[in-house]
Amino acid sequence: MATLTDIQPILDKSVVGNGPIVIAGPCSAESREQVLETARELQANGIKIFRAGIWKPRTKPGGFEGVGAEGLPWLKEVKDTLGMLVATEVATRQHVIDALNAGVDILWIGARTSANPFAMQEIADTLKEMNADVPVLIKNPVNPDLELWIGAIERIYNAGIKRVGAIHRGFSAYGKHLYRNLPQWHIPIELRRRFPNLAIINDPSHIGGKRELVAPLSQQALDMGFDGLIIESHCDPDSAWSDKSQQVTPDVLNFILNTLVVRDEKTSTESLTLLRQQIDQIDNEILESLNKRMRVSREIGQYKKEHRMPVLQASRYDSIMQSRVQLAKEMGMSEEFMQAVLAAIHEESVRQQLAVLNQR
Ligand code: PEP
Ligand code: MN
Repeated sequence: MATLTDIQPILDKSVVGNGPIVIAGPCSAESREQVLETARELQANGIKIFRAGIWKPRTKPGGFEGVGAEGLPWLKEVKDTLGMLVATEVATRQHVIDALNAGVDILWIGARTSANPFAMQEIADTLKEMNADVPVLIKNPVNPDLELWIGAIERIYNAGIKRVGAIHRGFSAYGKHLYRNLPQWHIPIELRRRFPNLAIINDPSHIGGKRELVAPLSQQALDMGFDGLIIESHCDPDSAWSDKSQQVTPDVLNFILNTLVVRDEKTSTESLTLLRQQIDQIDNEILESLNKRMRVSREIGQYKKEHRMPVLQASRYDSIMQSRVQLAKEMGMSEEFMQAVLAAIHEESVRQQLAVLNQR
């Protein structure tokens, strides 16, 4: 069944201009003053879309869970006095009702919510009941599951919301990492391949978790053709009630945005075409090599069958891993990358050997 066939742009070019869409504002609305001061400074720097979390999904109870519906009039004030569009996160039926009744222009759905089909359906049903016509941005689920992400987007789209968009905010991982939520760029890129009209926005604040990563992650996203950025900005980041280490002041945000290089797709040159041809050629060679490798694997399978040997020999696999990973490192590729490639190749080799073994 064809899905998402009639996606509309999330915002009119007359509102957001031709460059990347920029949504900025604090992680959380804390007080009327903090909301209005931050919005005023952002607006003075040319930002047109203001974000602020009213209901905050927190990992553990006891943290600041957002000011709740009390903060909605503050957003209304930003909209009425500064002429900005305002956006907030919704996770339940009541959030949708309250946000839409308060005139919120854009809704987003958080990563913990998009991972939950029941919550997504409840939100979708409420939007449908209310005949809502607002853009809805769906963050990737916390786990790297593209189908779950697409399913969440489909639920909203099927509720009659044609202005749907996606936000890449990285994926949870166990243990300590450079990033708060690991970016897995190939996932939004695959989403783009499947739904070329779906706007994809990057959230460098929640991916990086640190101020200094906002600029490089934003540039990376623009280089990959993302349609926009959602960045946390607070008038006084160090005293923010949530996510303080990743928020930047509106002035710093302005500086970051001015340093970003927006590349123009349309000026794709002759030499880019040549480079792409080279990539096509190399990919073909990789496929040929893999095919050869699988043929040899099947021959080994045949040998093992004739000599009644087991398919899996862990020590051999370990030594292959070690030597190839070392070589890859010397060539400037990451260990994780080579491990993932070898694991995938090994899995397919085993599958092919088993097929030989099971032949009568
Ligand atoms: C947020 O945008 O403030 C937020 C809670 O994000 P996420 O759902 O990506 O964690
Ligand atoms: Mn946040």
